[in-house]
This record gives sequence, structure tokens and C-alpha cells, in this order.
Amino acid sequence: MDSVHISELSWPVYDEKVRHGRTVVLLPIGALEQHGPHMSMNPDVLLPTAMAERVARNIGALVAPPIAYGYKSQQKSGGGNHMPGTTSLDGLTVASTIKDVLKEFARHGVRKVALVNGHFENSMFIVEGVDLALRELRWEGIRDFSVVVLSYWDFVTEDTIREIYPYGFPGWAVEHGGVLETSLMLHLHPHLVDMSKAVDQPPATFPPYDFFPTKPQWTPCSGCLSSAKPASAAKGKLLLEVCVEGISSQLRTAFD
Ligand SMILES: [Zn+2]
Repeated sequence: MDSVHISELSWPVYDEKVRHGRTVVLLPIGALEQHGPHMSMNPDVLLPTAMAERVARNIGALVAPPIAYGYKSQQKSGGGNHMPGTTSLDGLTVASTIKDVLKEFARHGVRKVALVNGHFENSMFIVEGVDLALRELRWEGIRDFSVVVLSYWDFVTEDTIREIYPYGFPGWAVEHGGVLETSLMLHLHPHLVDMSKAVDQPPATFPPYDFFPTKPQWTPCSGCLSSAKPASAAKGKLLLEVCVEGISSQLRTAFD
């Protein structure tokens, strides 16, 4: 019964691994969000989880069950929350979920947690959850609990970007359902991608402001914000390696 996944351990095995506070716990957080007609709705969960598994093996960490829902899809980064299938939480719920889970880990003895984010819109609600957890833990006298918050795409190096996007990098915001996520899914979960349904389209363009309520006509019909056509499993393998390597090496020193 030896696994990097907390949910696959018995409580005494888990207790033994975390009670002393030295083991890092990786918590993936994603979303249930449409990712175009060519892909399943769970890449924001599967991709950070796959990376967390590999990082955990590299650095002797554990992986918590991922949080499978996230904050509302925003039009200029995820197509918008009006899209069918996209199923989101209020910001308060995201922050409270993070806070509750972190406080439970702290009760078990865990003192080092890394949140591995796969859904851009979660970012500040993760920070809020972490802040609330640290504040309440301080009230309980726990002052040595520390948290790393990261989004996996921030570990894609400039060299890799040049290799993956030889025709020019459109920017992470319009990468929703595009080359990054589709390539990683082709490498890790090919049965969840159907490239014959990938739509060839130019990167979406938006005005320099957000508008509410959402104007559905701003979002390309596919729900993708750029073309997934140049995606490939080989690009996915490269992206996975560079992210896992980058996250592993940063986490080796982050908690010192
Ligand atoms: Zn995504």
C-alpha cells in the first residue's frame, strides 16, 4: 500500500508520513470547463494532477485528491461561464474549500503544502483561501505552516515556448483549449482528445476591458480561444517534462 496519492493510503500509513511535518503535500486544483469540441472538460484537473504525481515521485511528496471544480470561467481566458458544460463555484466557495482543506492538513501535522493550479481563474481565490487558513492557524498557535501557490504553465521556459510555438506565441490567456492543453492531453490522455474535431481559428481578440453580462458573441463558436491544430503528443511530452522538472527543482528549495 505505497502510493503518492493520499487517498490510496490507509490512515496509519498516511499519519506516519505526515505527522512530523516534513513531507510536502501537493494539492491540484482545476475546473470543470469546456475546452472546445475536440477535448474533454477536465484538462484543468488532469494536467496539474499528472504533474503533481511526477513531482511527488521526484521530491518524496504526497498528492492530495484534486479539487475538481473552480472559479467561474472568464470570457478572455476560458471562453466564459455561459458555455454549456462549464460548471463553476462562487469565489467564496473556492476560497473556503482551500481554507478548510489546508486546515485539515495542518491538523494532521502537515506543515508544507504546494497548490498546483490548472485553471487561471482560480488564482486569487486560492490566495484568499491560503490567507484565511494561515490567519486562522495563527489564532490556533500554528505559525510554521507554509504554502506555495503555483500555476503549471509558469514553468514553461522561454526555450520551450520558442520550440512549441515557432510561428509566434499567442500568450497564455488565449491558450484556452489551444496548443498547450491539447498537446499535454494528447500525451497523457489521448483517448480524451479527438483531433478531427479541432477547429482551426486565429487567436481570439478582445477589447482591453471585461464586460458583464458576458457578450456570447465575443467567444469563438468552438469555445477555444486559439487553434489546437498545431498540438501534438510530442509537444505534450516536452511540456510535461519541462513543467515537472521546473516545479520539482523549485519545490526542493522553496520551503527551506
Ligand atoms: Zn484549461
